[in-house]
Amino acid sequence: MSHYPTPTEQTYHGLSFPWETPPKNGDWQTVADGVVWLRMPLPFSLDHINLYLLRHADGWVIVDTGLGTEQTRDVWARVFREVMLDAPVKAVIATHFHYDHSGSLGWLSRRFQCPVYMTSGEYHALFVKPASGTEMGWEMAQFFQRGGVPQEHISGLLGVIGDSSYEQDAPDSYNRLVDNQVLRIGGYDWEVVIASGHSPEHACLYCRQANLFISGDQVLPRITSSVCVTVTEPDANPLKNWLDSLQSLRTVSDDVLVLPAHERPFYGLHYRLGQLVEHHHAHLDRLLAEMSEAQTADQLMRFMFPRVRSSFDILLANGEVLAHLNFLLGEGRITRQLIGECHSYQRLLGSNESSTDMQVTHV
Ligand SMILES: [Zn+2]
Repeated sequence: MSHYPTPTEQTYHGLSFPWETPPKNGDWQTVADGVVWLRMPLPFSLDHINLYLLRHADGWVIVDTGLGTEQTRDVWARVFREVMLDAPVKAVIATHFHYDHSGSLGWLSRRFQCPVYMTSGEYHALFVKPASGTEMGWEMAQFFQRGGVPQEHISGLLGVIGDSSYEQDAPDSYNRLVDNQVLRIGGYDWEVVIASGHSPEHACLYCRQANLFISGDQVLPRITSSVCVTVTEPDANPLKNWLDSLQSLRTVSDDVLVLPAHERPFYGLHYRLGQLVEHHHAHLDRLLAEMSEAQTADQLMRFMFPRVRSSFDILLANGEVLAHLNFLLGEGRITRQLIGECHSYQRLLGSNESSTDMQVTHV
């Protein structure tokens, strides 16, 4: 799953963009010595992903791959000829497991017989396959029931989850990235900075010498990355991980050029980190204000995202609302009760009261 546009308009105020227009889809440009920005097309409303090519001693290192489609491979074929001048790909780094980032991971690795570098959490996430098509396991059925999703929407959501165009292409082996590890690529040292919340163990790459920060989906200039609870872990608290990660990213210098996975490279990292935190606190405040009476997650989703129509967007919006609810449960600010098959959420009035739902695990 990828990104969800913010319901409120966010301005570019506080950020600066060295390139006014991006390369055309399928094109590229150099952003620093030995660092190429490739604009790979995507067949979605978010119509591109930024991939980065790092010049290595006798070849190239690729950061993220695009989808596993013919269109992606046609662009890569041009890049191999016209950018890499038929020099080999020496390694592929995946920031995280999402299909737009890792969809051609196995293909690239097999083609060049080169290693793949990613974190353990992201590599193993490639293999998590929820029920697809018309087959629905009890976990998925319960997940939707507890969220109060109307029966007539469920088949549409299952269709999205089972859509083969989001299939992964996992290599048979990988090299594990860990936090603070240094990757020497060409003349640069890239430090691995791990963040969480959008995906389990997302790797960013920080080059102090060139003042560059490849941020993946962890920091985007205008859209906000989805932070979702899914059937895989219904009681997860990814928003806590996300907010903690935004805080820890302040250790990266504020004057880096941020190379994000979507939209354009920009300056203003710390300002953007602050905006992202504010965005979620505004969501939390709106949710809390709406919860003086008991509500289901689906009701709250329609309140927060009234324009959402497609099954894909409903699935993301549902996961996003659950992430905010699980965060509020963890903070002891709301209660959650199982009424029949459905969870009902309500604000706690006294600030000293605490919810037992997330602090004590009732097995
Ligand atoms: Zn992503």
